[in-house]
Amino acid sequence: MGKLTNFKRSLWVFHASGGSCNACDIEIIAALTPRYDVERFGIKLVGSPRHADVLLVTGAIPRDFADKLRRIYEQMPDPKAVVVIGNCGTSGGVFYDSYNIAGPIDEIIPVDVYVPGCPPRPEAIIDGVVKAWLKIEKLEKELEGKKE
Ligand code: SF4
Repeated sequence: MGKLTNFKRSLWVFHASGGSCNACDIEIIAALTPRYDVERFGIKLVGSPRHADVLLVTGAIPRDFADKLRRIYEQMPDPKAVVVIGNCGTSGGVFYDSYNIAGPIDEIIPVDVYVPGCPPRPEAIIDGVVKAWLKIEKLEKELEGKKE
């Protein structure tokens, strides 16, 4: 894995749950609890997509949530990255081909990182967030290059 070099501030993360069974969401919370404590690395969960660098999405996304998810994504400032947590959002998982599902998530918004599992462990979720962090660093460098 690459090395974080350019990011000069904390990484703020917004979590959107769309039809998840809650197990993926609990594993995200576990990454924040004292055993993993990602806040010590500056990774912080925020309450608004307007403040977020990274969007974590769980669930297979029911049809009535698809537009809301698009709006959440559009509210995030650039550069930004999307991480799908769990099999439901990645492929539809156990809800694959269900009549009420608008997902997988990459059919609704662009996805940068997939973290498979049902549910994935906190270590895998943290790894996915670091990959998103690297992607944002790359985008920031590209933006800085354009300014010069
Ligand atoms: S991937 Fe598994 S744990 Fe995660 S929301 Fe779907 S059914 Fe639940």
